[in-house]
Amino acid sequence: MDRVDAVVVGAGVVGLAVARALARAGRETIVLESAERHGTGTSSRNSGVIHAGLYYPEGSLKASLCVRGRELLYEFAASRQVPHRRVGKLIVALQTREAALRTIVERAEAAGVLNLEWLDAQALARMEPALRADVALHSPSTGIIDAHGLMHALEGDLTDAGGMVAVCSRLTRATPLSGGGFELTVSSGLGPDVQETSLHAHRIVNAAGLDADAVARRIVGTPPERIPQVYFAKGNYASLSAPCPFSRLIYPVPVPGGLGTHLTLDMGGQAQFGPDVEWLGAADPSREPGSTAAMQDFRVDEARLAGFVRDVQTWWPSLPTERLRPAYSGIRPKLSNLGEPVADFQILGPSELGLDGLVHLFGIESPGLTASLAIAEVVEQKLLR
Ligand SMILES: Cc1cc2nc3c(=O)[nH]c(=O)nc-3n(C[C@H](O)[C@H](O)[C@H](O)COP(=O)(O)OP(=O)(O)OC[C@H]3O[C@@H](n4cnc5c(N)ncnc54)[C@H](O)[C@@H]3O)c2cc1C
Repeated sequence: MDRVDAVVVGAGVVGLAVARALARAGRETIVLESAERHGTGTSSRNSGVIHAGLYYPEGSLKASLCVRGRELLYEFAASRQVPHRRVGKLIVALQTREAALRTIVERAEAAGVLNLEWLDAQALARMEPALRADVALHSPSTGIIDAHGLMHALEGDLTDAGGMVAVCSRLTRATPLSGGGFELTVSSGLGPDVQETSLHAHRIVNAAGLDADAVARRIVGTPPERIPQVYFAKGNYASLSAPCPFSRLIYPVPVPGGLGTHLTLDMGGQAQFGPDVEWLGAADPSREPGSTAAMQDFRVDEARLAGFVRDVQTWWPSLPTERLRPAYSGIRPKLSNLGEPVADFQILGPSELGLDGLVHLFGIESPGLTASLAIAEVVEQKLLR
């Protein structure tokens, strides 16, 4: 049986960041990825925004890891020439929602984000003349990043440190061994050529995104009561096939389950709106690990465009509605259902699980891309120190 120090399950941005950290700490590390390439999951189905850390409850992992991760990400992107831009963002409101903006300022300040600026309607009109709002917050630390470029750079560091990503390799089961470590069963290959192989690893990190709960159920010794129920919430995007008058990201105040239908710009300057929130219900706990993406319909229903028009026209009345097109979607693995208080990330290590050498990452929705390098620091600390 092949032996390796650490196995990370899932080659999304979080799994790659974690594997890079472990490999650079001198641990021989393999990432198992069930798809044919890295980064085809949620990590390539998002807004590509480097969040400043404005929204998350004081003391939460989302708050601290977003702020830490944002700084690490700007440094990393600059040092590895990953395309990114600190474009800034406006959170806009009509007078009736000004209280919601005040709550954002309080939360942001509690998380250490002290550079938000209040803008009145006149200041706003000078900055973004096409925008209609009574009041806004300007967040200069918000940016955008090329998520594929980021993952490519993370994988480059991983391989430079002696690690590798094994694609078409799905973890189906792991069992702790009496002498320490785990025996892993991996299903490798595609279609009729699938083969089962075994691997010995001292440590496992479950960074399987939408499948993290299903993977955890297959790692023997994980206390069942520590595996959360996951709820899926799809986020749909619409693209604008017309010039966009805005140079910053534009957000309304958040809505239950998401940040509100906002305008993001990609690195090529293309404007898109979204994601909205379409609750898909509870994940089936008995599903095969690694099967979720194939079971989902990522198409964007044209009928949802009416909702985009209604939301966006509240702050951009002259939106050319006939130029909106359904674009892409992503799915959030949420640990709270519609109507429940927003849940935090869960990073469960040996002390929480009572099992050496194992870390599970649950509920890594937004701001997981921003926080990826900070999540990697926490995982490294839980496993190696
Ligand atoms: C609509 C939307 C918008 C978002 N916007 C932002 C944003 O602007 N900024 C931000 O910071 N965050 C954003 N996020 C959150 C961010 O995209 C995610 O937190 C992040 O991409 C999660 O990365 P991951 O590596 O955990 O998961 P994934 O990218 O999903 O990777 C998990 C991988 O595990 C693999 N896998 C699953 N099971 C197995 C198995 N059994 N064996 C082997 N491999 C397996 C999958 O194939 C997949 O490649 C957004 C999320 C959504 C849904």
